[in-house]
Amino acid sequence: MNQRVWKAVQERSGGRCESCSRGSGNYGQTDHFFGRARAEGVESCWLLCMECHYRKTNNQPSARFWLEMFVAHCAKHGYEAARERATKRLEGIVAVREFEMAKARGVQ
Ligand SMILES: [Zn+2]
Repeated sequence: MNQRVWKAVQERSGGRCESCSRGSGNYGQTDHFFGRARAEGVESCWLLCMECHYRKTNNQPSARFWLEMFVAHCAKHGYEAARERATKRLEGIVAVREFEMAKARGVQ
């Protein structure tokens, strides 16, 4: 990945997982929140420990949980564009869930 971005993420995180705050030692992994193919920047990447990276990749406990974590992370650092993007996805997930719940109740 881009060395400048990698270095900035390392410095911001202080080598700690930016989700659970555990020291990640040498096992910290830079996660491209919106996927590697999209724009790579300090705002869209965060450092995760191996365990969090695994859980995030597999949507455990849920995709919603990780979106909420990332929205909070962006708010903390003042990353408005990334926060907005994650919030839109979060609203999408909430809307789908509400629609499915309404459908299950027989309401359209
Ligand atoms: Zn972690």
